Amino acid sequence: MQKSAVFLDRDGTLIVEIGYLSNPDQLELYKDSAESIKKLNDTGILSILVTNQSGVARGYFGEDTVNLLNQKLLNVLKEKNAYLDAIYYCPHHKKGIIEEYAKDCDCRKPKTGLINQAVADFKDINLEKSYVIGDKICDIELARNAGCKGILLKTGYGTQILNEPCQDFIKPDYVAENMTDAVDWLLDDLKNWQ
Ligand SMILES: [Mg+2]
Ligand SMILES: [Zn+2]
Repeated sequence: MQKSAVFLDRDGTLIVEIGYLSNPDQLELYKDSAESIKKLNDTGILSILVTNQSGVARGYFGEDTVNLLNQKLLNVLKEKNAYLDAIYYCPHHKKGIIEEYAKDCDCRKPKTGLINQAVADFKDINLEKSYVIGDKICDIELARNAGCKGILLKTGYGTQILNEPCQDFIKPDYVAENMTDAVDWLLDDLKNWQ
């Protein structure tokens, strides 16, 4: 039987958005992140982090810093009995200044490279029964590009986006107050498949 996955953005979604976070001491989980992920863990839905980290290409920090931050995220989740099944990130940006990362890659959201990697690694993901949760339009575009449903959070940049929708605003399948609301909605939505 194929599994559902929830592809989770990191900054502004699971942790407080502060812009190019590089210091692990500044990593702050939203208060309902861990219990929301635990709810997914307990129902057998894959929780997979997909995050753009163009700070690497821009020369703000290295991949070692990204890994350190992601490890810290796993640690704070573990303290609350929650876990991520996998983490994928894109370190690239076409206007980056670090040569090896300065390219128009296929993994920077809203392109689907990160999700494709997850599908290749897990082999049993059904994208039609999967979701992207994030706080930016690129997360909702990613959902559409990958054939998942998109949930826009009001945390992070979410409220700002909703207040000034631009021309290419793609309507999310659901707008959620926070992670708790998003997970409750998708668990209910999944009942349509039973
Ligand atoms: Mg974000
Ligand atoms: Zn990339």
